[in-house]
Amino acid sequence: MRLRKLLVLFSLPSLLIGCNPEQAPGAGPIDLLIVDGLLFDGSGSPPSAGDIGIDDGAIVFVGDADAVNLRGEERIDAAGMWVTPGFIDAHSHAELDPDYGRDAIPYLHQGITSVVLGLDGGGSSEVAARLGLWRENGIGVNGMLFVGHGSVRRQVMGEANGAPTPAEQAAMEALVRKGMGEGAFGLSTGLFYVPGTYADTEEVIALARVAAEYPNAIYDTHDRDLGAVYQGVGYDASVLEGIRIVEESGLRGIFSHYNPQGAHNYGRGEDAAAFINEARERGVDIWAAQHPYTANQSNLRSYTVPDWAVDGGQDAMVARFDDPALAARILGDTEAMLQLRGGADKIFFVDPAPSLNGRTLAQVARELEMPPAAAVQAILRSGNKGVMNLELYDDANTRFLAQQDWMMTCTDGRTPRPDQPMTHPRTFGAFPMKMRQFVFEQELLSPEFMIRSFTGLAADFYRLPDRGYLREGYRADVVVLDPDSYRDLASFEQPRRLAQGVEHLLVNGQFAVRDGAATGVLAGEALTRPDDGD
Ligand SMILES: [Zn+2]
Repeated sequence: MRLRKLLVLFSLPSLLIGCNPEQAPGAGPIDLLIVDGLLFDGSGSPPSAGDIGIDDGAIVFVGDADAVNLRGEERIDAAGMWVTPGFIDAHSHAELDPDYGRDAIPYLHQGITSVVLGLDGGGSSEVAARLGLWRENGIGVNGMLFVGHGSVRRQVMGEANGAPTPAEQAAMEALVRKGMGEGAFGLSTGLFYVPGTYADTEEVIALARVAAEYPNAIYDTHDRDLGAVYQGVGYDASVLEGIRIVEESGLRGIFSHYNPQGAHNYGRGEDAAAFINEARERGVDIWAAQHPYTANQSNLRSYTVPDWAVDGGQDAMVARFDDPALAARILGDTEAMLQLRGGADKIFFVDPAPSLNGRTLAQVARELEMPPAAAVQAILRSGNKGVMNLELYDDANTRFLAQQDWMMTCTDGRTPRPDQPMTHPRTFGAFPMKMRQFVFEQELLSPEFMIRSFTGLAADFYRLPDRGYLREGYRADVVVLDPDSYRDLASFEQPRRLAQGVEHLLVNGQFAVRDGAATGVLAGEALTRPDDGD
């Protein structure tokens, strides 16, 4: 690669003057050599000892550097360390736009160098503008965007329930086309959330077909009903809907944070895997991502207020709370919804506004001297609140799904504000926790299988042409981690503890973490969907 770079330079006529061919290729040192590490190339192959060379942001050498006399201006001794491609967070809510999250520090300390955003239906169609801001402001990790069905629907139809008119459907399709044309990787949906939940399957298929006009496009879905939706379609029907959308649109698909929810779905990991395996066997291009936690994070309104009562938005909902007959009906629904989620003591506040944080809904209800369902209405009057739903997922399900060779890894993590003490620990620990549990403690998976789920597998799915593997010519997103200390430290009590064990992390060849400490460099790139067809 250095050779190629020099040849490019030599081909410029102005540089030929005074150029001495004697100093040509291979003579000078490259930027960086990482030597004597255990190299995991991202393919799932067993690791091998070796060196990698990095120059001008790219991996230019993999092998035995001494054998070819390769020298680096800087040399890092990686004896005892694992050297891997940078990790790809397949479902993230990293904040790269406001000032406080751009450096992506919670993610970097896990080894993450790329994040996928705009998911759960939330990505704006203003893709070019956002990518442009990233390029202007700088971002700490590479960012990829989806255009979101929910966002597009809200823009055209507000939060109205019901089907779009033909003109509204056409307006939504135009917005999807705009986002895809500007570099989005695909269309995301959040069919569980308002307003995505108001869409029927046909509406989504029509929009997905628009996205499918673009090469390499993807459908990313947060299912309509992950298993804990009151009067919902149920987990199985929801997964089958996702597969149908992929199959009929011609997109390639990914189920976000794939795991059935609720105690009634414990022990159903094999069923969940079978849906995907059967679809793949008949040629549907469908994949998934997961995080290892048993708790989920979302918001109180989505978990406890039925869709019909949210129709029209916050003010319309509060007006219903003020109508005694409607309020009573909502109370009944809320009680049933809470039961489905394990009860009010499993709903734990983690809101940016700290007044309720660190307590469960059951505790807050006791303080308010109300039953939990009534407390929900009192709390939501001042706006929606971030909550976790504890013990929503079954460890055994997660473990079974982790063994599937189409299962990527994600944080689903939302960067907390600087003054926000409580959040879901997954933002800080999802990748090392998955590694700790399934590789180090349970020895369920090999390190190379796990690293593939963090790297090459996701790069294959997103069709990133030059990331996800330790290969010559690839971008230098590289993790140097100490397997003896690579651990998640974030807990529900102390969710903001950074992961440990990433000794060095390169993002596009620059040190984002050096000697275990973030450098603050903003070396991430705004990535766009590869446009080269299949
Ligand atoms: Zn999400």
